Amino acid sequence: MPPDDGHGRRDYDVVVVGGGVVGCAIAWRLSFTTARVALVEAAHDVGEGASKGNTGIATSGADCAPGTLEADLVTRSSPRWEELCASLDTPWRRIGTLAVAMSAQEERGLQHLREQAVRNGCRSELLSGSEARALEPLVSPRALAAVHIPDDGIVDSLRLVIGYAELAARNGVDVLTGAPVTGFDRDGGRIAGVRTARGRLAARFVVNAAGIEAGRISALAGGDEFEMWPRQGQYLLLDRELGGRFAKIVGGVPTELTRGIYCVPTTNGSLLLGPTAVDSSYPGEKAVDSDTLDAVFAAAQRLVPAVRRDQAIKLFAANRPASDPVYRVGPDSRVGNLVHAAGIRSTGVSSSPATADLVHSLLADAGAPVEAEDASAQTALAPLPRLLGHPDPERLLHLDPRYGQVVCACEQVTAAEIAAACAMRVPPRSLDALRKRTRAAGGRCQGTVCLAGVSFLLSLHMGMQPWEIPVGEPEATLGVAS
Ligand SMILES: Cc1cc2nc3c(=O)[nH]c(=O)nc-3n(C[C@H](O)[C@H](O)[C@H](O)COP(=O)(O)OP(=O)(O)OC[C@H]3O[C@@H](n4cnc5c(N)ncnc54)[C@H](O)[C@@H]3O)c2cc1C
Repeated sequence: MPPDDGHGRRDYDVVVVGGGVVGCAIAWRLSFTTARVALVEAAHDVGEGASKGNTGIATSGADCAPGTLEADLVTRSSPRWEELCASLDTPWRRIGTLAVAMSAQEERGLQHLREQAVRNGCRSELLSGSEARALEPLVSPRALAAVHIPDDGIVDSLRLVIGYAELAARNGVDVLTGAPVTGFDRDGGRIAGVRTARGRLAARFVVNAAGIEAGRISALAGGDEFEMWPRQGQYLLLDRELGGRFAKIVGGVPTELTRGIYCVPTTNGSLLLGPTAVDSSYPGEKAVDSDTLDAVFAAAQRLVPAVRRDQAIKLFAANRPASDPVYRVGPDSRVGNLVHAAGIRSTGVSSSPATADLVHSLLADAGAPVEAEDASAQTALAPLPRLLGHPDPERLLHLDPRYGQVVCACEQVTAAEIAAACAMRVPPRSLDALRKRTRAAGGRCQGTVCLAGVSFLLSLHMGMQPWEIPVGEPEATLGVAS
């Protein structure tokens, strides 16, 4: 961290506001340069906003509107996933999507999807219902036809955000969490400093990647006026019993308004059903409701009759950062050293590497010192061995005997993995943050059985009593008063 300037301010070439997938990807890209960079996040951990509750599809771009910035950034990102995820120790598989038509009207929609795919340069093939079932036997026998998009993939989007932030931190980016931006110091038409709850940072350039708060951050900086609002999505998460049998992402036929409900196998073998897409006016609203979840389940069951509601282990909601237009990525028209990476509503995971490249070049165009690449920068994280699915568990015991101490039985998370997560440059400061890094308490029991052990181990690393460990933000503890 740079020393302060004698007035309590530290000095950065670029301050990135917001530690979601977009801000973390930008910090990661900038970390390969010699620029001094800070990533400032309001929450106690990175990836606590929209990036925490998405479907984890890395789309190849077949369903993006052709000619848009979104389509451009998604299609540029798509070929990079194998290499990117290997370098960020992030689970990823290119399994492909089946967009399934169950009615004659939906069948006509498939034609539109095919045309879009062609215009976006994405591979796709039109299949009959029985050809679709040959690829994915779980698809309903009533399916009439489908479009197969083979280059879509599934990614552990929580680990992706952590991976971006961790590699950025190892390359010298200061990741400041629990540091909401409260204002800016101005010098003429430019930002001179960023005020946060953890002090002031001198900033030559600022990137606004504050998700749903991006309009407010722009207003605080004296920048362009734009409105952001939440577009909510609700989900059911089903456990591995069925998820492990899926070979493909199975979805309906996208319409102008929504991509529709999917059955998405996750990289850890569970199954997501969802999401809905409903505009709302309450950014903090993450409640689910039974009518919506009934509709999600019915739509998923129409595509895959084998889904069962009693396999649900979690119900949750998340909010997309919506704006008009979407993908407001570019320089501010009023503040010379402010770049927006905002309004990245529905495909922010899928476009993140190319969005980071674009912001890097926008900063360079604006005169930020981000062009010199740092030859000493680390290009990849060393993969952390994990017990779950490991071909030779005996060998792990020789690496570290704590691999023998399974703390979370559902996800087979060991004390060794928890210790490694706690030793990260961007360490977990809550049970939720530990779950994002290790999957501890994220499986079938959702912590019912393992929370005591998990919180005990985390308490050793955080120097707190187990009952003082926050579940998420610092004020939300396990609830036992001292
Ligand atoms: C239901 C749903 C399903 C989705 N499915 C997919 C999918 O399958 N594939 C895909 O590619 N994308 C998907 N998305 C979209 C994707 O999740 C978003 O595009 C992406 O997460 C947006 O990232 P972000 O960094 O812009 O926003 P966020 O993740 O919200 O990050 C913004 C960050 O800014 C911080 N912040 C806010 N105010 C301040 C402040 N004052 N100071 C400091 N920090 C601040 C917030 O705390 C937050 O961490 C989905 C989204 C949702 C909600």
